[in-house]
This record gives sequence, C-alpha cells and structure tokens, in this order.
Amino acid sequence: MTTTPTPPTSWSDPGPVAVADGIYRIPLPLPTDALKAVNVYAIEDGDDLVLIDAGWVMTESRDALEKGLGQLNHDLGQVTRFLVTHAHRDHYTLGVALRREFGTKVALGLGEQPTLEKLTDPTHNVREAQTARMKVCRAAPLIEGLWALPHVDHDYKQWEFPDEWLTDRQVIDLSTRTLEVVATPGHTIGHVVFVDRDNRLMFSGDHVLPHITPSIGLEPNNKQLPLVSYLQSLALMTELPDLRMLPAHGDVRDSVHARVGELQQHHEIRLRQTLAAVRDGATSAYAVARVLPWTRRERTLDSLDLFNQIMATTETLAHLDVLAERGELTKTTQPDGAFLFEPLD
Ligand SMILES: [Zn+2]
Repeated sequence: MTTTPTPPTSWSDPGPVAVADGIYRIPLPLPTDALKAVNVYAIEDGDDLVLIDAGWVMTESRDALEKGLGQLNHDLGQVTRFLVTHAHRDHYTLGVALRREFGTKVALGLGEQPTLEKLTDPTHNVREAQTARMKVCRAAPLIEGLWALPHVDHDYKQWEFPDEWLTDRQVIDLSTRTLEVVATPGHTIGHVVFVDRDNRLMFSGDHVLPHITPSIGLEPNNKQLPLVSYLQSLALMTELPDLRMLPAHGDVRDSVHARVGELQQHHEIRLRQTLAAVRDGATSAYAVARVLPWTRRERTLDSLDLFNQIMATTETLAHLDVLAERGELTKTTQPDGAFLFEPLD
C-alpha cells in the first residue's frame, strides 16, 4: 500500500541510467501501471554482464532490455547470469524466457523452492488458492467476486526452476566485485538481497522499496507468518552497514537504513490501528480490513478493486498474526476454518 507520494522525477523512464561504476539501472515496462516498471541492474563484469532481476516476460520488456543494453554497446548474448531477488513474475519470468534463447544461467533464493514447485505445476489454480486464503479471513463477498470473474488458467509455462539455488550468506565472486546473498524472507518466503560491501551497495529487490511498502504474503505458499518474517528481515538490515539502496521499483537512494526506519514506523502505526479495530469489535481479518483506511488517500476497503481488496485483506491478516505472536491478541481457528482474533481484555 502506498505511503509516500511519488516524486516528480520519472524513475520509470526507459534507461539505462548509470548508478555506480559499471552498474546501470534499466527500467523495464510492466503490463499494469500500478508499479510503473521494474528495475533490472546490469553489472559489467569484464566482457560479461550479470543482471540483477530479469523482468516480466513480454515483448515490450525484452525489447526495452535489448535496447537499454544496446545503448551501452552490449547485447543480450553477453548476459551470463540472472541473479533474481524473488519468484514474482515481474522479476523472474523474462529470465526463464531468455535462458531458452541464450542459455543464460538463472539463480534464485533457495527459500523460493516450494513456490516454484507450485508455479510450475499445471494443476495449480490461483483462484482456488485465493479462495482458501479469503476463507481464513472470512471474506465471503471477496470470494463471491472472485468466482464471478471469468476463469484464467495459471500460465505454468512461464515458470521453470532456476539453474542455481542461492543460500543465505553465499558469496558470489564476479571478476570485478563480490556479492553476498542475504536471505530476507517476508515479501516472499525466499526473497534475497545482494550486498556489495566493498562498494557499499545493496540490490534490495522488493524488500526495501523507496515509495511503497512491499506487499506481504502474496504468494502461493504463505503458511508461515509473513509479516513476522518481514519485520525480522527489516531489522536485519540495520545489522548490516548502511548501504546505498538499489531497489527493484523506484529510484536509487543513499541510505537503506533511513528507508528501513520509515517502513518499521509504518508497520508499527498499522499494528496500533489493527489492534484498535479488534478492541472495537472486529474479529476477522476481513472485518478489520473494512474499518482500516487504505492507501495514502485513506480510502475504504470497499472502494478498492477486487484484487486490491484481496491484497489488503491478506495484509490485514499478516498484521493480526504479528499482534497474536506478540501476545497482544488471541487467535482461534473456527469450525469454518476462519481465524478470529480477540483482545486479551
Ligand atoms: Zn516487484
């Protein structure tokens, strides 16, 4: 959900933009304009190129990447590796497509393995997964809305396993620099960031974004408590040196720590609002989501489109789970499978 206004500069204008010595930010288009673009970072490594994130598989993105690299006198065939921060379509799927064409190696965090198993499964059904999640939130109107939409098959062919699973604190030796993999579960279970300590840089993926707070729990396997993990992964950032932030959406910023502080504050405020809603009598995630304000315009849940209502309800459940985990609320599972939350009194 949006918390800070978008600055007047258009970070999403086609690149490349030099962001550090031998590193270029190349924004690639997305089919929906909500996020505007996804940044791919091209790292020059001798004659090779290593790319952080790959983009969404669509012709316009492939063309933008080819053109961006062309302006740097490079081409797609020089890309030897995609190091991908997480298994969301806008970061991963163009890498799979370009691997088919050029044999490029694709690497992804090991924590994404169960997600990839789902996404590569032809029988995976997104609507059923969303329905199950909304049942837990007791969001009957949203389930009704989902089933009123025409069915869209999950496009499993866009998904394949990576060549390499990256593990926490793994060191990747390039010829010109060293990158350290740091696991940052939260936005997705297997999200990783890439740290270049010598040059004081962090490729922060969607873990730390400059303009928005990353969505939480928007993945097929969200059995864990994603916001508990996310807040831990935010705190982890402050244990690293303060680095320059190279995010997947938005412009480069000087300090990861400064933005982490803002994100932590946002979630604490949200947790207080969530607790107050339960004390006022809302018990399910959907009931709480309906009394909370959404987006920086403070809209009601009902005024959002269906997809955003589902996202907001999922996020509310994540906040409720943090409060239950902290012992500020009780959580019970009802016979219909719904989680209900109550104040301690
Ligand atoms: Zn993203």
